Amino acid sequence: MSWLTEFVRPKIRNLFARREVPENLWHQCSACQQMIFHTDLAANLKVCPHCGHHMRVSATERIAWTFDDGSFTRIELPKAHPDPLRFRDTKRYTDRLKEARDKTHLDDAIAVAHGRIGGRQAVVAAMEFEFLGGSMGAAVGDGLLAAARLAVLQEAPLIVFTASGGARMQEGAISLMQMPRSIIATRLVKEAGLPYIVVLTDPTTGGVTASFAMLGDIHIAEPGALIGFAGARVIEQTVREKLPEGFQRAEYLHEHGIVDMVVKRTELKATLARVIGLLRVKEMPVAA
Ligand SMILES: [Zn+2]
Repeated sequence: MSWLTEFVRPKIRNLFARREVPENLWHQCSACQQMIFHTDLAANLKVCPHCGHHMRVSATERIAWTFDDGSFTRIELPKAHPDPLRFRDTKRYTDRLKEARDKTHLDDAIAVAHGRIGGRQAVVAAMEFEFLGGSMGAAVGDGLLAAARLAVLQEAPLIVFTASGGARMQEGAISLMQMPRSIIATRLVKEAGLPYIVVLTDPTTGGVTASFAMLGDIHIAEPGALIGFAGARVIEQTVREKLPEGFQRAEYLHEHGIVDMVVKRTELKATLARVIGLLRVKEMPVAA
């Protein structure tokens, strides 16, 4: 050992050592495989700057990105029965709920907030796909009803961001009952003469598509979003026909009249503000 090996060599090594790049700095786009800086991705609202792929986002992010100046008030939602059927598959339903709560920091697959969009009061309900696949149990039904009642109370439009695999099998028939319940929620808003706007995001399927997701006054969808009732493979096997290219995607549904607009996420807030302004032009003056 000498001064040269003990002192000089490590210094030189440090000088030329490749700096470790923390993995969490980068995100790989699942569509084009390009690497994107996390900060760039967040600034672009989780839309790939290379190929325009719209990544899935959380209910919390949806809400934060939708209101003016990111300013809003979240409302507390009613607590549903934790496990009405005492359901157990490979795990207990209560354990699955706990895991989902820890992962998403939400009580269930929906979050509701109110604030202003384009200066006008609005209520937003956003579904969380990371919470048991955004499945619709009693708590989601409760959340939609609470959002609808709040919209009526505030004489504000209701905007719902859907992201769901459909019914929550762990709640069986109670989950299916949320379809008519969620429809009642939309009726409350419509009967009050208020706009009900649906933003269909990837994926929106099953019982959610078969209920409140298809009853908006205006249907907006994000590019490339999968929207449908049954899976394409099931349909293909049933009708014994090859389905067309892009079947059940936002653009296909737009061409066929199910979706009114396909709007990029970066333009969504401005579009919502414009639509609300058009629908509520007389009653709701823009705040100064
Ligand atoms: Zn990409």
